[in-house]
Amino acid sequence: MKIDRVETFLVPPRWLFCRVSTDDGLVGWGEPVVEGRAEVVRAAVDVLAEYLVGEDPLRVEHHWQVLTKGGFYRGGPVLSSAVAGLDQALWDIAGKAYGAPVHALLGGPVRDRVRVYAWVGGDDPAEIAEGVAAHVEAGMTAVKMNASGRLAPVPTLADVEDVVRRLAAAREVLGPHRDVALDLHGRATYPAARLILPAVAALHPLLVEEPLVPEHGHRLAELVACAPVPVATGERLYGRADFLPALQAGVSVVQPDPSHAGGISEVRRIAALAETHGALLAPHCPLGPVSLAASLQVALATPNFLIQEQSIGIHYNGGTELLDYLVDPAPLRIVDGHIGRLEAPGLGIDVDEEAVRRADRAGHAWRNPVWRQDDGSFAEW
Ligand SMILES: [Mg+2]
Repeated sequence: MKIDRVETFLVPPRWLFCRVSTDDGLVGWGEPVVEGRAEVVRAAVDVLAEYLVGEDPLRVEHHWQVLTKGGFYRGGPVLSSAVAGLDQALWDIAGKAYGAPVHALLGGPVRDRVRVYAWVGGDDPAEIAEGVAAHVEAGMTAVKMNASGRLAPVPTLADVEDVVRRLAAAREVLGPHRDVALDLHGRATYPAARLILPAVAALHPLLVEEPLVPEHGHRLAELVACAPVPVATGERLYGRADFLPALQAGVSVVQPDPSHAGGISEVRRIAALAETHGALLAPHCPLGPVSLAASLQVALATPNFLIQEQSIGIHYNGGTELLDYLVDPAPLRIVDGHIGRLEAPGLGIDVDEEAVRRADRAGHAWRNPVWRQDDGSFAEW
């Protein structure tokens, strides 16, 4: 069996899918994308496809090594995301070739279902209590929120109190038996994070995500020491070598994105690295159904898994939803805050190829907003 074609599809709301086909008629799907830079990753996939076409798709690890290292220059969001989507597609083909879901090839399921959380409040949160109540009503056991919009370099007392108030509003609806996670989204400077983390500790967040931008990761250890909250990071880290210093700094939760951090192959290894530090895996996944299926396959086979992000109803999606590109949305349905074990061969989903081809003809040009401080200077989004 040989790979005979690699195609990419730029589909709303902000995703890029790849389709890898073989001369045996097997097809694998992947989601190689950097949000806001999908076209750039598409070009990278095209270049990597020059190597893949003609190769045996079942040499997943060998291809990961060549795709990652063979171009001499390596790492970073664009190349790692291109490799990630292709890696997902190769695992999908492998599962279909062997007649088994990917988690069975990774050693078999270690759990029966995967706990997921829902987003609430959007980029600049409002009406939190109502949003959380709707998720609780739908059976969710955990939500995640930003709890702030733009943050000043040193937030005022009122700014910090606003973060606490929003988190408290969610906690009040959730009660003590459900969880709320706080995503600082790299908006906080080091001094801002030093103010916010201790202030929210009493509300018992499940995790506090990206308290610092990755380039300030060398200060994570000081932040971990300043408050008894589980610090999480990793959506903008791209491989196990990027995660090692974060783990050595004492983060409790790693959040690699299976569409950014080298795919199923590398996220699996990042989870194992985290396990040696007593840290937990919570894959980042505000993306589409292929990326979510890849995440779930890892979650099903990974002992130190905590919780899974998913994008149903997320504020980015507007008009196109996670389940729109599936022939049958049932495998990704959330029941009682969990997604059940994916049983079909490969990634366990059936991508609606016609819908994908149609959507690609419309395409998208999604970009994240660029925020400003009051004086007109750049503000982290
Ligand atoms: Mg995040």
